[in-house]
Amino acid sequence: MTVVQKYGGTSVGSIERLQAVAARIAHRAAQGRPMAVVVSAMGKTTDELVALAGAVSARPPRREMDMLLATGEIVSSALLAMAVRELGHGAVALTGAQAGVFTDDTFGRARIRGIDTERIQREFAAGNVVIIAGFQGASGEADFTTLGRGGSDTSAVALGAALHAQQVEIYTDVEGIYTTDPRIEPDARRLADIAAEEMLEAAAQGAGVMHPRAVELGLLYDIPIVVASSFAADGAAGTVIRKEVLMEPEDRVRTIALDRDVASLTLRQVPDRPGIAAQLFGPLADAGISVDTIVQNAGEDRLTDLTFTVSHADLEQAREVAAPLARELGAAELLHDHDLVKVSLIGTGMQSAPGYAALMFRTLSDADINIELITTSEIRITVLLRSEQGEQAVQLLHRAFALDQPVST
Ligand code: ASP
Ligand code: MG
Repeated sequence: MTVVQKYGGTSVGSIERLQAVAARIAHRAAQGRPMAVVVSAMGKTTDELVALAGAVSARPPRREMDMLLATGEIVSSALLAMAVRELGHGAVALTGAQAGVFTDDTFGRARIRGIDTERIQREFAAGNVVIIAGFQGASGEADFTTLGRGGSDTSAVALGAALHAQQVEIYTDVEGIYTTDPRIEPDARRLADIAAEEMLEAAAQGAGVMHPRAVELGLLYDIPIVVASSFAADGAAGTVIRKEVLMEPEDRVRTIALDRDVASLTLRQVPDRPGIAAQLFGPLADAGISVDTIVQNAGEDRLTDLTFTVSHADLEQAREVAAPLARELGAAELLHDHDLVKVSLIGTGMQSAPGYAALMFRTLSDADINIELITTSEIRITVLLRSEQGEQAVQLLHRAFALDQPVST
């Protein structure tokens, strides 16, 4: 069985770190199984390359941007292969194209079309560990393409599928997925496993560990993804993201996510007639603004308040687009608020059991935390709160749902 690993930017952030990773790879490779390793650019390299492009052009051409960004992963893969060879094990570095990763030509967020593993297999046969530049592929024209920021997770899972690996190991700077961010709640526990569906919700609600497309691919090809720390001892347990997770003995919330990147806009007292939402959200979508939560309150006198949320980066543009529309629609005013956070409870166990929402709301109201807005999916309850109360809310909910208690089996 082929071993497929991926090391993130922090894991290879310095020469010392890169050598430590090389030692882990050489050790594992010595066990004799064919091994493919996907690597990210060192440390903040990609951000630095983006800044370089910005110094030359306000709107860098996308094709050249991808060519520039691809160099980050080429540097780390070449150095890592050298470092592994220094330790006496055969290793070869491949670009995305050399590794057979073919994509469409949407520069900046290309999609993988297929992977031709012929070259990788040849290198395996020659006894080499294959170190592959993540986040990149080649278009039909053999142009460099990139998969979107954080995309080397996606490279790794796609290669895992193409090489029929039993699982994909993602090594990062945290020990796995937690019941909530341990920097907020010191009693947070590492989860032994989490369902891919839960992980996708958590990622969408601000838990940033994994690239969501990688989780989707893992789900599609039914490949478990193991997230573990490259800083911990080799073989230390992490979290397994898998298609099906046995529900724990008691149905529980799996994880609590805090999203700080939230701003809201409210159209106050809009005349309540058909077509309002279409008139507003069409132009926002055309402007490339992704609208998250939408809530409409039925008000008095056939007037309604319409609230929606966007990311901080999109707030100004959303206001520019919405202001003339608000006037056209006859709204009394357009309000905005950037001092908000979203707190989400996530768990497939919430699907069938009532009572989660009640306990969540009671916990917050007992602490005098006002809920500005509520939204749900089948496996998630999200509340919008004032920013300054976000961390306290996470801590209180973590305790209320007993996530600090180990699960009894
Ligand atoms: N180096 C790329 C980035 O910083 C891809 C990755 O790290 O996954 O977005
Ligand atoms: Mg990453």
